[in-house]
Amino acid sequence: MILVTGGAGFIGSNFVLDWLANGNEAVVNLDKLTYAGNLDTLSSLKDNPKHIFIHGDIGDRELMARLLSTHRPRAIINFAAESHVDRSIHGPSDFIQTNVVGTFNLLESTRAYWNDLPEVDKTAFRFLHISTDEVYGTLDAHDAPFCESNRYEPNSPYSASKAASDHLVRAWHHTYGLPVLTTNCSNNYGPYHFPEKLIPLVILNALAGKPLPIYGDGQQVRDWLFVKDHCSAIRRVLEAGQLGETYNVGGWNEKTNLDVVHTICTLLDELRPRADGKGYAEQITYVTDRPGHDRRYAIDARKLEHHLGWKPAETFETGIRKTVQWYLDNQDWTHHVTSGQYREWTAKHYGA
Ligand code: NAD
Repeated sequence: MILVTGGAGFIGSNFVLDWLANGNEAVVNLDKLTYAGNLDTLSSLKDNPKHIFIHGDIGDRELMARLLSTHRPRAIINFAAESHVDRSIHGPSDFIQTNVVGTFNLLESTRAYWNDLPEVDKTAFRFLHISTDEVYGTLDAHDAPFCESNRYEPNSPYSASKAASDHLVRAWHHTYGLPVLTTNCSNNYGPYHFPEKLIPLVILNALAGKPLPIYGDGQQVRDWLFVKDHCSAIRRVLEAGQLGETYNVGGWNEKTNLDVVHTICTLLDELRPRADGKGYAEQITYVTDRPGHDRRYAIDARKLEHHLGWKPAETFETGIRKTVQWYLDNQDWTHHVTSGQYREWTAKHYGA
């Protein structure tokens, strides 16, 4: 049995689906169901006894103590977080509360549970913390990609809160011996991505005939990884990662935001041409840049590739095609998310 936190969010839910598709070990899934948590994504697991959903907060120590002593997981994978940079600029307090204070409380709950485990289980136990490349700050055009020894230089309230959580995880290993692992991944994309993020936003706005907003000059560079490849990296790190180590996860796919948007437009032109015969790129609109917008992120994933033998299955070209096709094929899911119907579904099926 493993415990996943934040398993109703974008990456966590993809991970839970992948985990159960790839093996028999049960998952307890703890999620607070903020606006970003969506149990609709996990509806195929509704009657699966190997998926146990628990509605709650990682910071709730009483709940965590009960949950850990009842289910006795051999590992905890912490996806739970506030994750949207723009939201962190407008209202940072939830980011501090969940990403910093919540992670601290989760570490303390985990430490109490781990201390009481029999020696053999104690040795086998793992706490895997999921983090971001944004903790390293920003790169100039000619800088080498981020590697694990780069200095932390977070620039947004989101990345600062994730950096703080990474430091807490590290300290709980060095101070208390908690068996931790940390992964720092580049930007993910793929199925079930909440449509406030660039790629799903552009696909859905394009189909709805709305403007495709580009921040500033659109030349910000991000390094993109298909979410299923992130999931396979997490499984690999859990299985074989060295205790106390951090692993950068990325697919060597640096793209400017403008390139990403043009790629999506070209795919949509092919797969779902506009009725008026014009290209979707016509809908591109430039908007005021985000304050403090990092210029470039890029990940050097050689440690994970060489030490643990991990490789992504998708290139950006294959992954983005699958993603656009997924959004075309799953308009019910996106309609539920954008209309808020998934909240009704959650209340009906889980009483949450
Ligand atoms: P998301 O916002 O889609 O999902 C976060 C989930 O956590 C939601 O289901 C939410 O309900 C839950 N949650 C929030 N606060 C909680 C709390 N206090 N207790 C329990 N659950 C809570 O985020 P995501 O994109 O799936 O990201 C997951 C993790 O991966 C985050 O830690 C993020 O920093 C990290 N990450 C994301 C990316 C990316 O591109 N999306 C890249 C690298 C790392």
